[in-house]
Formats: sequence, structure tokens, C-alpha cells
Amino acid sequence: MTSAASTDASASQSDFSARINLMETLRASGLPREQQITAYAIDSLFRGLSSVMGNLLVFPVAMVALMWGHVNQEQLLGWLGANLLLGAGRHWLLHAYARQMPTSPLDLRRWAYYFTLTSLVSGTLWGIGGIIFFVPDSVVHQVILYVTIMGVVAGTLILVAYWVPIFYAYSLPSVGLSAWQLFNQPDMGQVGLGILMLLGLAIMANTARQQNRDVLEGIALRFENLDLIAQLRDQTVVAEEANAAKSRFLAAASHDLRQPLHALQLFVGSLTPGMPAGDQQAVIAGIERTVGSLDGLFNALLDISRLDAGLLRPDVRDFRLADLVESFDAEFRIQAAGQGLVWHVDVGDVAVRSDPVLLETILRNLISNALRYTHSGRVELMAQLIEGAPANERIRISVCDTGIGIPPAFHQAIFTEYYQVGNPERDRTKGLGLGLAIVDRLVRLLGHELTVDSEAGKGSRFMLDVPAGRMVAGLPAAGQMLPEVGELRDMHVIVIDDEQLVREGMDKLLQTWGCTTVLAGDAEEALALIADTGRVPDVIVADYRLREHRTGAEAIALVRARCGQTIPALLITGDTAPERLREAQATDLPLMHKPVSPVRLRGYLRQVRAQSSAD
Ligand code: ADP
Repeated sequence: MTSAASTDASASQSDFSARINLMETLRASGLPREQQITAYAIDSLFRGLSSVMGNLLVFPVAMVALMWGHVNQEQLLGWLGANLLLGAGRHWLLHAYARQMPTSPLDLRRWAYYFTLTSLVSGTLWGIGGIIFFVPDSVVHQVILYVTIMGVVAGTLILVAYWVPIFYAYSLPSVGLSAWQLFNQPDMGQVGLGILMLLGLAIMANTARQQNRDVLEGIALRFENLDLIAQLRDQTVVAEEANAAKSRFLAAASHDLRQPLHALQLFVGSLTPGMPAGDQQAVIAGIERTVGSLDGLFNALLDISRLDAGLLRPDVRDFRLADLVESFDAEFRIQAAGQGLVWHVDVGDVAVRSDPVLLETILRNLISNALRYTHSGRVELMAQLIEGAPANERIRISVCDTGIGIPPAFHQAIFTEYYQVGNPERDRTKGLGLGLAIVDRLVRLLGHELTVDSEAGKGSRFMLDVPAGRMVAGLPAAGQMLPEVGELRDMHVIVIDDEQLVREGMDKLLQTWGCTTVLAGDAEEALALIADTGRVPDVIVADYRLREHRTGAEAIALVRARCGQTIPALLITGDTAPERLREAQATDLPLMHKPVSPVRLRGYLRQVRAQSSAD
């Protein structure tokens, strides 16, 4: 019992998976969905047939038994023989189908027509039965004959839901010939019976069509379910890939942060009070280098976070490419000469439409890479106009080198975070593996297009296509951005930061510029100190994240409210999480990211001073 049940269960399980497989194959065929549905319905028909085939033979046998002795026995036996032959033929057909398991819609349709042909033969046999088994003087036998014929038509209704042609192939000859026989009788009652049979046929044809629609709709829904599952599967794969990329990123980032910290510990540990001055200098130089590499890493991570948080809003305008290149040309020329490389720039006199700061970041990254991965030969920066429709003219900026090259298999991977082709030991002097990840994000942000042409040992060419711009006056030089004003003497700055070390560092720095300071750990302390000194600060510099979930923005608002003035204020944040960055950005206060370079802080304070003296 148990084993029979489990055999049944496993059979239905394999049947189920065969049907799912067929659905998947049909979905993958790319044919119109309607054809896929019809093909699946035909398969369902064949699967259903194997269970009812035996029952279909009960009717001819019963008919012969009932008619025995009332009609010609040879005709009866001949008719039964033909039906049995047909049954055997159908049995063979079903076996052949099960062996072949067709999956293409075209094949399935062919099999459906084969079966329709057997229905036509069966219908014709029953139609002939309706004529030759007519017993003129026995109404009972007439009723038995025609009710059975109609009953068999009704019996096929279950199957025709999958494939309607078999309904017509069977019912038209069987009912048609029977009705014709009745119409030829002199009695009006028999003619009436013939009319009733045709009416019944019409009603059943209607039912067949309706059932067919329902079944096809059900199959369509199953296909939609599979579509949804496939979509979900795709989305899960994307999410998993993103997750894996983030994990890789975090693992590499924490490794890269640990390295310099570890080095710092060693340097600091080696500093001893009685150390000769020369050795101390060497250790301090080591510390400076390590801090520099930490700074570079933090900046790169921050750039990526800001790009991912959508905080960078490009400031797109038209400018001469040569003006931009001028700002870094000398720097790279010196670096190239130091490496014994030829540095060649030819950007002609073209204008581009882009964000100059972001474009500079992209080019700097590409050029630094070209210099880093080239040991002999040259590095070139070129630009040329690609002709197109007036609104579609582009400038192709190329950074080419004669360096180690990149095998084509890595052309995509190099743009992911931390991907480096030949640096498994993650030697920091060989780069961070973040440059091209930043370039890729910036290129997408600006809507430019970047392509790579490179092969191992044959150098590399990175090509950036940028919309052509209208020729305009040059970019303001970096020095012109800040008004040159006097010292910051007597500028009164209130520093709000919950870290005592940071407060002390700020205090020292501000005092060297001649500022006076008030140092507070939170908003309340700041308000108390302002009340004590009775002096309104000229500037507030606040850390974004303070104790007890308070923010620098709140502290600034409180101080401004207490003093009754919109005192210039600067937020400083050490956060790199995109949500935090977005929050800080949303305050509309000027924002700087830790570590803040003294030059930038001073630039800001100078601006405030220039502004207040202009007012
Ligand atoms: P990295 O800091 O390692 O240079 P990038 O993201 O800028 O990180 O580059 C990723 C990898 O792409 C590099 O490690 C290097 O293997 C390869 N690569 C980038 N530019 C070049 C180039 N011009 N020539 C050869 N390889 C390059």
C-alpha cells in the first residue's frame, strides 16, 4: 500500500517536473505566447487521454450487447472490430507520443492533428452505427442508439477543452449522419428527435468553446507565474551580486585601513626619547607617508560614497579643454620626466560641455594610471572632434600609453571597486584599485562615454567621448576663486565638537591664524559660553554628529536663535554612509569632510571675512 502510494507520488512528481520543464522550454522558444499556450494545452490533452482511453471502448462494446439480436450480427461484429482496431491505433499513438515527448509547438500541433484524425474515424464509425443500427420498429432501441451517440459526444467535452478540433471531428460525422438517418424517417417524432440532436450539438459546441477559453486562460496564468518567478530570480541574483561586491569592498577597505594603521603603530612604537635626531626624522617621514596614504584612501572612499548617495550635482558648462589641461599639465610633465617617460599633450583648441572639476578628476585618474603602469615609452593626452549632427558633435579625449596593457578579459572588471589586475598582495604603492571605480561613476553621472582599447604588453588607450561645447572665455584660475583678504586676526570662532582632541587641534590651528576661539562639546555648553563671554561669534564650526544623537545642524540653529542672527556656519562630518551624507547635505549648510585640510578651512574663513567686510 505504502509502496504503491509512494510510486504514485513519485510518478506524479516526475509528471509535474516534466510539465514545468516543458513550460520552461516553451518560454525559452521565443515564440508568441499564444502559440506557447496552445502547445502546452496539447501536451495536457495527451496526458489526459492516457487515463480515459480504456473507457472509450466501453461504449462500442455496450452498444453491440444491446443491439445483439435486433440488427445484422455481421455488421455489428464488423463495426465492433473496427472500433477495437481504432482503439489499438490510438493506444499506439499515445505510446509513441510518450516516447517522443515533443517540445516544439510545431511538433505538438502535428500530434494534435494525428489524434484529431482518429476522432474523425471514430465519429464516422458512430455515424455509420447511427444508420445501420437503426431498428425501425423499436423506439426503445432507437432511443438507446441516439442517446449513446450524444452521450459519447458529451463525454469528449472534457478533452476538447484542450483542443477544440477533436470535438468537431468527432461530433459532426456521428451526430450529422444520425440526424440524417432520422430526417429520412416518415414519422414526425423521429424527425423531431433528429432536430433535438442537432440542437444538443450546437449547445455542446458552445460549451466546448467556453471550456477551451477557461483552460487556456488558466495555462496563461501559469506562464505568468513562471515569468514572475524568473523575474524574482533575476532580481535576487542582482541583489546577491551587489551584496557580494559590497562585502568584497568592505573586506578590502578594512584591510587597506589596517595596513597603514599597523605601520603607524610600528613607527610610533619605535620613537624613543633618546633617539638620534636623524633617526627621528626618518620615523617622522614614515609617519607622514603613512598618513598621506590613509588620507588618500579616505578621500577615495568618500568620493565613492558621495557618488553612490547621489550627492554630487554636476555643474555642466562650456569651456576650452586646453584651459582645463593647463591646470595639471606641468604636474604630470614633471612626474613623467621623473620616470623617464615622454609626456605629450595635444588637445587642440576645442571646447567641451562637461563639469570641469569632475572631468579633471576623471582625466587625472586616467593619466595617473597611464603613468603608473608604463615603464618605458610615452603617455599622451589627445583630443579630436568627432563630426556629427550639429547637436551631436563630440570630442574624443584619449589617454594613451605604451605600458603593460590590460588583457581584454579584464576590461570590465577593472571598473569595479578594488579590482586590480596584478596586485594580489595588495601592495598600496601599486594603487588602491578605486580610481577607475570613481571614473566609471563620474562618467555615468555626466552622461559621457568611456571605452578601453588595450591588450597585454601593447599599451592602453582610454577614450572618453564628451559633447562638444561652444567656445567661451577661459576658466577662472584656481587662485581667483578666493578673494585675497587680510589675515583672520580677531575672527571669533565657536567650535562645537564632542571630541576633545579635535577641539584642541582646532583651537591650536585657529589661534595660529590669529582667531579667538570658544570650544564647546555640545549646543548647551556653547550657549552657556556665549552667555559668559557676552560675545557673538563671527563663525560657527560644528561637527555633524554630536553626543546623544544630536546634530551640529541643531546646535547651529540653537546658537543662531540665541544670538538672533544668521551667523555663518560650517558643518564638518566624518560620516561616509550614504544616508548620513544625504542628511548632512540636506541641511543646506556648507559641508566639509574629515579630514579637513587646513587650507580649505582657511579658505572658508577668508570667504566669510570677505563677505562680512563687503556687507
Ligand atoms: P589602481 O589604483 O590599482 O590603479 P584603478 O581602479 O585605477 O586602480 O585601476 C584598476 C586596475 O586596472 C589597475 O590595478 C590595473 O591593473 C588596471 N589599469 C588601469 N589603468 C591601466 C593602464 N593604463 N595600463 C595598464 N593597466 C591599467
